[in-house]
Amino acid sequence: MGLDIHCPKCNKPMKVRTSDRPTNTTVRATLFCNNCMTVKAYFMGGIERIEYAHYSTQDPDKPQAQAESEPMPLPKVSQLDLLNTPYLT
Ligand SMILES: [Zn+2]
Repeated sequence: MGLDIHCPKCNKPMKVRTSDRPTNTTVRATLFCNNCMTVKAYFMGGIERIEYAHYSTQDPDKPQAQAESEPMPLPKVSQLDLLNTPYLT
């Protein structure tokens, strides 16, 4: 599921023009409205709150630690799926 940012003027979904990730938990984007063609917006989104699960050592539901593996490659983020990221879904 992607995250649509709607135009403050006409309320239609805006198009992402450029994007980058200033930190691991934030996304910054330049948006443009292709409907009214007059609105450019600067978006900044990020994780607002983080909660960590705590398990006792006896808990059968405790997730098993993952084996060491190759580091995940940096995601290729297109302008269209910029906001459809694990951080925001
Ligand atoms: Zn608009």
